[in-house]
Amino acid sequence: MTDHRFPANDPSLRSWIEVPAGSDFPIQNIPFGVGSRDGEAFTAMTRIGDTTIDLHALYEAGLIEDPSDAGGTGFMGQLDQLLLNGPGPIRALRQRLSELLRDDKALNGLHRDTIRKAMAPVAEVEMDNPTFFSDYTDFYSSRQHAYNVGVMFRDPANALMPNWLHLPVGYHGRSSSIVPSGTPVRRPMGQFKPSPDAAPEFGPTRQLDFELEVGFITYEGKDLGERITTAEAEEHIFGLVLFNDWSARDIQAWEYVPLGPFLGKNFASSVSPWVVTLDALEPFRTQGPQQDPLPLPYLRTEGPRTFDLRLEVGLTPRNGQENIICRSNFKHLYWSMAQQLAHHTVNGCNVRAGDLMASGTISGDTPDSYGSMLELAWKGTKPLTLADGSERKFLQDGDTVVMRGHAEKDGVRIGFGEVSGKILPAS
Ligand code: CA
Repeated sequence: MTDHRFPANDPSLRSWIEVPAGSDFPIQNIPFGVGSRDGEAFTAMTRIGDTTIDLHALYEAGLIEDPSDAGGTGFMGQLDQLLLNGPGPIRALRQRLSELLRDDKALNGLHRDTIRKAMAPVAEVEMDNPTFFSDYTDFYSSRQHAYNVGVMFRDPANALMPNWLHLPVGYHGRSSSIVPSGTPVRRPMGQFKPSPDAAPEFGPTRQLDFELEVGFITYEGKDLGERITTAEAEEHIFGLVLFNDWSARDIQAWEYVPLGPFLGKNFASSVSPWVVTLDALEPFRTQGPQQDPLPLPYLRTEGPRTFDLRLEVGLTPRNGQENIICRSNFKHLYWSMAQQLAHHTVNGCNVRAGDLMASGTISGDTPDSYGSMLELAWKGTKPLTLADGSERKFLQDGDTVVMRGHAEKDGVRIGFGEVSGKILPAS
């Protein structure tokens, strides 16, 4: 069914650019990323099927306008500048791109020769982070994940901390070490206790893990001292990316008291290159979990506030085949993005264009839907057996972790592609 607020989402649209069967990137997606072809400058791009389209080149050809009113520099480098004026101009741009890239007899192939000059196969384009992620916050919004961690590290009877059902718990992360998909991740060195009674040691982490997360990227928020309400929040959210919050569990377990995550987290996080807009995901909106107790008024929302996004994690050993070790869904999250953003700003904290807010590990309620090795292998007590017969309690050197995500409805599949990273030995 067509949502008239978002004509670019019309399921009947087809592109004149080839879209392989099962692609995450049909004409209804129109994501935004930052890429470089042949070592040229990085520019804003969109993608149809396996083809990138350089938005700066379309601007230079007079086919699209710059949403930042900056004379085209909005399309150079990271997307932050494009996000300064909020969703209106980006909606207009997405709609214009939909018109240029759709197969429409009325347009009779208009501008296609010009657009072809801006096209390149994805395999020939190097992708960078979509924004600078000037600030990065990581939430902890999956109830099952928080429960599992609480059971393993504290007490099954009091697995959730007393605050957990009352506010979206989070911490400020490190944005400088967020790397584009495909960047290898070196096993970090650090301080940890090999057993609870042992003295601390220094060495390569023995408990390297991933965390399956989805992050949202913001439009310009409000000034310092102002707050964004839950009702306003989605108008400040540009789109979503897949996010792997690499974690060293032994370093984390020893260092986190009393101030929280630090060196067990900030050695690397990996992000998928294409930002799928909240507008493109509108057809997949769904109701989140029932919240009990009812949150305080500033955290209350009306209507469906989450999205049905299927997520999976693949683990490929060195020279081996991929094993799908987790299937989860974004809709499992207890706290919605609107609640996270309202909570983040309720004290007057400002949010800027291009900030990244990650969901926290997304675990469902079945053991095959847990979003980390810590949970899948239950703190090392239930090792996973891979197709090649090897076992995993945590990640080994040479392992590659790939996360994928997509939504599907009415014959339209909208996805993120993937975020991947291979583990290199410590050095
Ligand atoms: Ca995390």
